[in-house]
Amino acid sequence: MQMPEPDQEVLARRSEIVDALRAIVPGEGVIADTREMRPYESDGLTAYRTVPMIVVLPETVAQVAAVLKYCHENGVKVVPRGSGTSLSGGALPLADGVLLGLGKFNRILDIDFDNRTVTAQPGVTNLGITTAVQHEGFYYAPDPSSQIACSIGGNVAENSGGVHCLKYGLTTNNILGLEMVTVEGEIMRLGGKHLDSEGYDLMGLMTGSEGLLAVVTEVTVRILKKPASLRALLLGFPTSEQAGACVAAIIGAGIIPGGMEMMDNPAINAAEDFVNAGYPREAGALLIVELDGPEVEVDTLIERVREIAEANGSTTLRVSDSEEERNAFWAGRKAAFPAVGRISPDYMCMDGTIPRRQLPEILTRMTRMSEKYGLRVANVFHAGDGNLHPLILFDANQPGELDRAEAFGADILKACVELGGVLTGEHGVGVEKRDLMPEMFSETDLNQQMRVKCAWDPKGLLNPGKVFPTLHRCAELGRMHIHRGQLPFPDIPRF
Ligand SMILES: Cc1cc2nc3c(=O)[nH]c(=O)nc-3n(C[C@H](O)[C@H](O)[C@H](O)COP(=O)(O)OP(=O)(O)OC[C@H]3O[C@@H](n4cnc5c(N)ncnc54)[C@H](O)[C@@H]3O)c2cc1C
Repeated sequence: MQMPEPDQEVLARRSEIVDALRAIVPGEGVIADTREMRPYESDGLTAYRTVPMIVVLPETVAQVAAVLKYCHENGVKVVPRGSGTSLSGGALPLADGVLLGLGKFNRILDIDFDNRTVTAQPGVTNLGITTAVQHEGFYYAPDPSSQIACSIGGNVAENSGGVHCLKYGLTTNNILGLEMVTVEGEIMRLGGKHLDSEGYDLMGLMTGSEGLLAVVTEVTVRILKKPASLRALLLGFPTSEQAGACVAAIIGAGIIPGGMEMMDNPAINAAEDFVNAGYPREAGALLIVELDGPEVEVDTLIERVREIAEANGSTTLRVSDSEEERNAFWAGRKAAFPAVGRISPDYMCMDGTIPRRQLPEILTRMTRMSEKYGLRVANVFHAGDGNLHPLILFDANQPGELDRAEAFGADILKACVELGGVLTGEHGVGVEKRDLMPEMFSETDLNQQMRVKCAWDPKGLLNPGKVFPTLHRCAELGRMHIHRGQLPFPDIPRF
């Protein structure tokens, strides 16, 4: 994986840059010692590591603005970082860049039960928002499995999702207001506590922008009242095809569960070994279907889902009768990633999306790919929205296995696109899927997206090397045309 070449001219100015940043963020807010910067060298995509040039940990919005203004005026690249749980390498540092950590922005600023909103600093964890309001029976719906650690700022940047997003939407559907700082150091506010905002939908644009457009310094989210009743079904099927057909039949019947997750046999067994959730080890696929709402409605829906599951050949069927049992059903699914970590020295978590009806086809293709690459795969899906998380198992200490795992992962994502889906469901593009972007987008599409990037960051200083497979100079965008095999601007780095 190629990254932009470190700029030697910037590196030569390192001590001058450190001094300038220390004047903005005094005390321990600037880290320049290599050993102390090591914890920041990677994010959740640990296959890639780079020690940043400098780590800066501001505490106020004014400091963020001053750091960005300084970096902009002095041609220094900046990589924003929340909690560093990105699985696509979005927070991977640059050797000639500042890593801007937002971890000290960890305060809830406002809780407004009348308007059903919480305003939080970007470093507050996803779960921290629910924790702050649960005493009044409220919660924040998007729930990534990393929710104890990932930050709400990172959730906005990645448009993160989770089990409950099938019914309640992704981050983009649950935020109402943002404060952010542009690369020039200007502070902007979008939206507020109200449902709609004027002008272009810049909040939509910011959500999922992976730290390439601006730095988020405050987030206002919508909170929901906890449903009166929550019950889950644990359904085992002989094959993934039958489980997939059951998912389609449930949605087709007009039922939108609060969550609907699928695991294949290797994932079932890894999770069962880890948490003893009572999963049927022999099942080819497992579905967890959660229904929420008023008690009478939930009871009726449970019966309807039960009938649909039986009609689709379920061989195990359990319904939770208590909160403990419902939590036990989820425990294995929530712990699926660490559980798989116990059966393989390394694994790579992919994230692609397919139309639901293509589930059997993608599974068949993955089995063939698994044989071709000689690597095992365990599958965990957000089944309701067609979002796949194949976990490719490998051993990085075996020569060539990482390369094979990456090639396997790329083939899965290409297959997702071929089957009418998309490259990412919720983990973002980062560096992981960057070079696959042309599989999904034409050059015209990509240029148009880069023009948006250029409008916000004409010097290309915010998180360069991520998302886009080619580093265009903004001034030249639009004139990129290969004429008779002659590539204009041959000196522009292409990753
Ligand atoms: C075990 C595990 C399970 C996971 N499960 C899920 C899941 O179920 N669903 C899901 O969607 N994701 C999941 N993830 C991925 C990850 O947790 C999310 O992408 C999360 O939103 C990243 O948040 P973070 O604070 O760690 O961001 P980081 O990793 O620090 O950064 C992610 C990206 O956001 C940018 N960024 C961070 N903060 C800001 C900011 N304040 N302003 C501008 N840009 C910013 C960074 O530059 C980077 O591009 C999982 C990760 C792990 C390790």
